Amino acid sequence: MTNNANGSRLDPWVQAYASRATSMRASEIRALFAVASRPEVVSLAGGMPFVEALDVEMFRGVVNSVLTKDSKTALQYGAGQGHVSLRESVLEVMRPTGMTAHPDDIVITAGSQMAIDLIVRVMCNPGDVILVESPSYVGALGVFRAYEADIRHVAMDEDGLNPTAMREMIAKVKAEGKQVKLLYTIPSFHNPAGITQPQQRRSEIVAIAEQENVLIIEDDPYALLSFDGVIHRPMAANEKERVVYCGSFSKIISAGLRIGWAVAPHALREKLVLANEAATLCPSNFTQMIVDEYLRTQDWLAQVATFRDIYKLRRDTLLSALDDHMPAGVKWTVPTGGFYSWLTLPPGFDATAMLPRAVTHLVAYVPGTGFFADGQGRSNLRLSFCYPPPERIVEGVKRLANVMSEEAELLKTFGVGGN
Ligand code: PMP
Repeated sequence: MTNNANGSRLDPWVQAYASRATSMRASEIRALFAVASRPEVVSLAGGMPFVEALDVEMFRGVVNSVLTKDSKTALQYGAGQGHVSLRESVLEVMRPTGMTAHPDDIVITAGSQMAIDLIVRVMCNPGDVILVESPSYVGALGVFRAYEADIRHVAMDEDGLNPTAMREMIAKVKAEGKQVKLLYTIPSFHNPAGITQPQQRRSEIVAIAEQENVLIIEDDPYALLSFDGVIHRPMAANEKERVVYCGSFSKIISAGLRIGWAVAPHALREKLVLANEAATLCPSNFTQMIVDEYLRTQDWLAQVATFRDIYKLRRDTLLSALDDHMPAGVKWTVPTGGFYSWLTLPPGFDATAMLPRAVTHLVAYVPGTGFFADGQGRSNLRLSFCYPPPERIVEGVKRLANVMSEEAELLKTFGVGGN
């Protein structure tokens, strides 16, 4: 330990951090997990898939079968681009969305999180501008920060990323003498906003990206978890050279397997493979082969339907509980798929300051500020309906409504919310 200029004690390694580490910080979600995972707390915070809906015995059989058929490959290092048989299977998984590709266009990664990391690693220098939605996925913001990107939020409306706001932001960035390098977007069942871009909106966004020579990262891990039967066609299905598509098995099989993928334009794909090798040598052969065996031998679409029905019931439960219990002035989005609804609180409420009180009332959520790189989001919060059973969701919303009533009283009395 040494003393810094103010005389306080500092671990010398803190001063030795690389500049990129200074912008790395624990997400508000992570800080919450410790408290929110206590059984008495209803957690509407983390976006954990409901893995209890998987048949563990069936899965044991799949794992056994991988080890019986080819343990030598499963337990060995593999290719940096991923297992070729799985890359073929990925085509089947994307088929319902209308997305086509060649297996050579696909890079298998340790979850789609790693795909996002590799894309930014290959494409961005420190200070490069990345456009993101307002709000945006906390895990992607973490990647952009880690590579010291200049993150700019673009407003959303009820159809998602707003094209006029996108044009305005690009103009503003140009006026500063910079170029926009990337747009990161989640067009379907947005995390955390719970919004889906209609096709027309997607085309408008791609057209702007074309004009301005911006590469789009299209993050689509919830693609198949649609509640109204509509599977949305990705931007990448029409625009393979403009868009890098990221997919994931986390929400449709298991997050613990850590398998995702990117479909990338040729020149980018080659670098992604090299970056993948530099980062992890290769994605896990064992879990890739488990996913592939599962997709080839089990009725995976029936399992997706099971997940979808569970999440739809939970979405319905959340929405009617919000209708029944939320005080006037609170607004929320109505997701047509995925895991999340985004709440906007009335003026004066501060979701970040209110969180400790909520945890005392045994309910947890993620404050909106976690989904912005620029301090916005204090009047917002994200509710996840994926994990708690329906009766717990209702209980959680009732508790949240009580917290908000107390907060409203404090606001009336003192003009500020309590914390
Ligand atoms: N993108 C989004 C929008 C997500 O919500 C998540 C997971 N919460 C990911 C990427 C990362 O998923 P994976 O488990 O495939 O890394």
